Amino acid sequence: MSDEKLLIEEQFEDENKKKEYKPKFEFNEKNYFNEKLKKGEKKKETKIRILPINGSDEYFKDFGNFKAFFVTHIHSLKVDKEISQSGFKKFVCLNDEHLEGSYSHCPLCEKSKEYYNKANNAETEPEKKALRKMGSEYKAKKTYIVRVIVRGQEDEGVKFWRFNAHSDGKGIFDLLKVLYEIRNKESIEATGEKYNIFDLKNGKDIIVTSIYDEDTDRTSVSITDAGFSTPLSKDEEQMMQWINDEKTWTDVYAIKTLDYMQIIADGEIPVYDKDKKHWVAKNSSEEDDKKQETTEEKSKPDKVEKPVVETNNEEIGDDLPF
Ligand SMILES: [Zn+2]
Repeated sequence: MSDEKLLIEEQFEDENKKKEYKPKFEFNEKNYFNEKLKKGEKKKETKIRILPINGSDEYFKDFGNFKAFFVTHIHSLKVDKEISQSGFKKFVCLNDEHLEGSYSHCPLCEKSKEYYNKANNAETEPEKKALRKMGSEYKAKKTYIVRVIVRGQEDEGVKFWRFNAHSDGKGIFDLLKVLYEIRNKESIEATGEKYNIFDLKNGKDIIVTSIYDEDTDRTSVSITDAGFSTPLSKDEEQMMQWINDEKTWTDVYAIKTLDYMQIIADGEIPVYDKDKKHWVAKNSSEEDDKKQETTEEKSKPDKVEKPVVETNNEEIGDDLPF
């Protein structure tokens, strides 16, 4: 008998692998770059190199021709401090095309639509305005994600940088686009050749500077390029390792489950019910407890095992201001 695996055995293994494969979200601060200042910080200057959206199993051939901006949609909401200490939290929209139909719908998008519909049917203008504002707050906003290497932190590997699209043309995406255009134009004028600052071999590092202005209580972000062209790394093997890094955006930005998102859309606080193995609204679970207490009259409330707010890393991660 041959030792070779039968095709059917291979298939069983493949199917099993598919079932097992579920990217597990583990928060690690090293996975993120963000331009925001920490409390009390006045200025931050970071030199980064922007990578292609993702590598591929095939050998990456063209170091000057790749897409750098991954586009997704995020709901950014004011939430109860029990959900996020900062009072704000970002949720990846479940309608995102990249989630490959894993979700039937996005409760937060639906909530937004609901408010817009109510606005259309409202009778007075102030009412319409207030409802439209709510619709807009729940609406998913276009967001870019880029992969970067932060200079001076090369040993921490590939990091992810997420920033919102700005309709006024003043967002980070726009600043990078303008910089690309300026350098390309300069090059064409001087040499007749195109120049791509994002080229991984002949391009440039990008310098991101954030400055806090006390008078306006605002932080401004500026973007410029390094003075000289340098490769992503002098070591080609290192370069390929970063380009083909396996981490993807869903590994570093938690995708919430449908039941969790529904509870958020309902304005409730999600708590994980370990017995039911899904998320429940905090108040409704308390009601359940109360019911239980009345039926089992003498059971002490302390003994009733309540679902607890999951304070795992995922929550901490989402609490960071980016
Ligand atoms: Zn959505």
